[in-house]
Amino acid sequence: MTAQTSNIHFTNARLADGSLVDFTVTDGRFGAITPAGSGPAMPDAVDLAGQLVVPAFVEGHIHLDTSFYGDAWRPHIPCTNGFDVRERVAFQAQNLAAAAPMAERAKNQLELCIGNGSLSMRSHVMVDASVGLSHVETILAVREKYRDLIDIQLVAFPQSGILSSPGTAELLDEALKLGCDLVGGLDPASFDRDVNGHLDVVFALAGKHGAGVDIHLHDGGTLGLFQVEEIAARTKALGMQGHVVVSHAYGLGDIPADALAKAGAMLAATGVAIMTNAPGNHAFPPVAALRQAGVTVFSGSDNIRDSWWPYGDGDMLSRANMIGYRSGFYEDHELEAAFDVVSHAGAKALRLKDYGLSVGARVDFVAMRAQHVPEAVVALPKERTVYRRGKAVAKNGTILAS
Ligand SMILES: [Zn+2]
Repeated sequence: MTAQTSNIHFTNARLADGSLVDFTVTDGRFGAITPAGSGPAMPDAVDLAGQLVVPAFVEGHIHLDTSFYGDAWRPHIPCTNGFDVRERVAFQAQNLAAAAPMAERAKNQLELCIGNGSLSMRSHVMVDASVGLSHVETILAVREKYRDLIDIQLVAFPQSGILSSPGTAELLDEALKLGCDLVGGLDPASFDRDVNGHLDVVFALAGKHGAGVDIHLHDGGTLGLFQVEEIAARTKALGMQGHVVVSHAYGLGDIPADALAKAGAMLAATGVAIMTNAPGNHAFPPVAALRQAGVTVFSGSDNIRDSWWPYGDGDMLSRANMIGYRSGFYEDHELEAAFDVVSHAGAKALRLKDYGLSVGARVDFVAMRAQHVPEAVVALPKERTVYRRGKAVAKNGTILAS
C-alpha cells in the first residue's frame, strides 16, 4: 500500500501585511506560500476571496470543568464581605452540585471556543480533597473525544489550596500520572499562608513529572510581587525557563514603575510568562510595559459563565479587543500587539510547536472579512471560518460535521 498524500490548495488569502497569497497544504502543513495568481491555476482550490487569514487563536487559560455555558443560567452570588477566593470556591461547590453533567458542559464550552477560532487551549482542572480526581478523569475523556478538533493542555489545579486541603499534594501527583500536563497552584500566601511550603510541593511535582507550572496568583501589591519573585527565582534555580506561568499576577498592575521594571526584567530573564484576561474590576499586569521588557504575555477567557462571574464568550479575538480597550491601545501597532497576545505569544507560552502561517507549520487558521489585524481586533467579525490542518472545522460559530 502506498502512503496517501493529501494536498489542498487555497488561493487569495490576505496576510497581516496586506499581501494576497496562495498556499498548498500537504498532510496538514503549509507547503509553498506564493503570491496570489503566480502559480498554475488550480481548479479545485479553495478561494478565500481576499479574506484576512490569521493563525488560529490560543485560548491560554480556561476552566472546562466549572462553566455553566449551555446549562441553566446561574445568577451570580456576591461575596459577603468583598472578594474572597475561599467563599467563591464554596459557592462553586454549591452550584456544581446542581449543574448538568460536566462532560456536557465542557463540550458546550469547547465548541464555543472552537467555533470562535481557538484550536489550542490550556484548561485548569480542579483537584481537591472533595472532588478528588473526578474532574480530571472527566475532562481527560472529553479531551480525547475532541482531539481531532483542538489541542488541549490540562493543568492539575488545586482549587482549595495544597497545604490547607490535606491529601491534595498526592492527588496532584495522581492527576499528573493520569495525563495532566502541568501542575497548578493557588495564591501560596493568601490561601495556604505558606509561600515556601506551597511552592515546594508545586515545583517538586513539576520536577518529578517533567511537567510545566501554571500558578493562579490573585494576590495584589507587594504580596503578589513577592510571590512572582519567588516563582521566578525557583524557575531559574531549577532551569525551568520557558516552562512556568503566573496567571493573573494582579500585583504587577498596582506597583510603582521602578518595581515593575525590576519585575519585568526578572520575568524576561527567567522566561516566566504572564497570563492576563484583562479583568474588569482589578488592576492587571500592564501588557505594553511587560512586552517591552521582553516578557511573554498571553491570555485566556478564564471563567465563562461560572460561579466566579457571568461573563465570557470564548472568543479570543474579542479578548484581544478587551485587552486593547483596557490598555488604551489605539495605534495599529498596539492593536497588533493585542492580537499577538491571543496568538503568537500564547503559542510561545504554551510551547506549541509549528504554530503560525509559515512553510512547515500546521495549517490552523481563521479566515474572516477584515482589511488587516487592527481592523479585525476592533470590528470583531463574527462571520469566520476556522480551519484545522487545512480543513474547515467551524463556520460562523458552528462546528461542521466531519
Ligand atoms: Zn483561572
